[in-house]
Amino acid sequence: MAVRPTVIWPDPRLREPTVAITTVDDSVRELYRDLCDSMYAENGLGMAAPQIGDSRKMFIVEPKLAGLAETDPPVCLMNPEVIETSDEQQDSEEGCLSFPDIYIKVKRPMRCKVRYMGLDGQAHEIDGEALMSRCLLHENDHLTGKLLVDFVGPLKRQMIKKKLQRVKDAEADEAAG
Ligand SMILES: [Zn+2]
Repeated sequence: MAVRPTVIWPDPRLREPTVAITTVDDSVRELYRDLCDSMYAENGLGMAAPQIGDSRKMFIVEPKLAGLAETDPPVCLMNPEVIETSDEQQDSEEGCLSFPDIYIKVKRPMRCKVRYMGLDGQAHEIDGEALMSRCLLHENDHLTGKLLVDFVGPLKRQMIKKKLQRVKDAEADEAAG
């Protein structure tokens, strides 16, 4: 059990190709637990493995958002595949733990269906609507190297880069002083 530091953009680890998980062994279960600890430490709704520096195809979703009880463990999705998306779209601001305090308007399908391997090693399907659809598609994007900044133009991307660099510098100053 460990909280791992969140990888902040433009760290290249967020763009690395991800690898499929073939068997659910101890190291996979450890990755899941670390992801859960790291997500809860940051109050996230979901988190993907590259965000804690691991390139395996796994992301998790906070249980309440997934329609479970608050005390249930987060849903673990491995090797996910988006198999359906609605024509109906939604358009609202989206955040990401790898972009602290940045919110970007992103158009996403209102509903989606994702097929994945669960911690039991079996295939499952999950449906998402509204925020859950947004979360599933956002986390799935992480596993293909797609990030929030890919939804904005080059000028805005540059502004975000500067803002996050300032945050990084401030943290470095704090650590040094
Ligand atoms: Zn994200």
